[in-house]
Amino acid sequence: MNIILLGPPGAGKGTQARFLVEERNMIQLSTGDMLREAKDSGTEMGKIVADVMARGDLVTDEIVIGLIREKLEGDKAGGFIFDGFPRTLAQADALGDLLKEEGETLDAVVEMQVDDTALVARITARSTCAGCGEVYNDNTKPIPADGVCTSCGEAKEFKRRADDNEDSLKQRLMEYYKKTSPLIGYYYAKGDLKSVDGLADIDVVKGAIDNALS
Ligand code: AMP
Repeated sequence: MNIILLGPPGAGKGTQARFLVEERNMIQLSTGDMLREAKDSGTEMGKIVADVMARGDLVTDEIVIGLIREKLEGDKAGGFIFDGFPRTLAQADALGDLLKEEGETLDAVVEMQVDDTALVARITARSTCAGCGEVYNDNTKPIPADGVCTSCGEAKEFKRRADDNEDSLKQRLMEYYKKTSPLIGYYYAKGDLKSVDGLADIDVVKGAIDNALS
């Protein structure tokens, strides 16, 4: 099964993708994670995207489509979860073509609905375990006082993303509404769209996604 998790920054796409990876042996393809890796390892592409990402702008379609193309040619396990991709209509069309070339189909697009005030509160409070990627929130799920991650049991660094600040967040939201939200209509018209309330408790959202995929 191949699915897209669609929603603005902070909607909880990464958190829910991790459940699907664990329980359904799916492969999470997060273009944001791939780009951060390229940036951190200082590749040519990483250098090109660093400023764009820091500002909260979108990286070019060509770059992200190239990243996804490479992954689709590899192991397919229990299917792919596209997380943070596609973000433009051109990327959506390209994904359709790439899946076709691989003899694959897109089985569902899960839209995670959240309001903007909640997004800003979530994003400015979030941090992630550098070891396993578990997401913490200063208000609802603080970093354990002993510094040991509740998910992987390691005492690694808890990192905040460089672009999780108010300025770049505003720009990321603007990019979402201008370029990504039209995909909701695009996939609705194709008949693939399922919408869930992304503001509910994590387990409730998980249940809603399970239902949407059954
Ligand atoms: P994310 O981790 O999904 O929030 O992505 C972080 C940043 O990476 C975004 O603000 C963009 O600058 C860039 N990015 C990630 N995915 C894409 C994409 N599909 N298209 C364009 N830019 C992207």
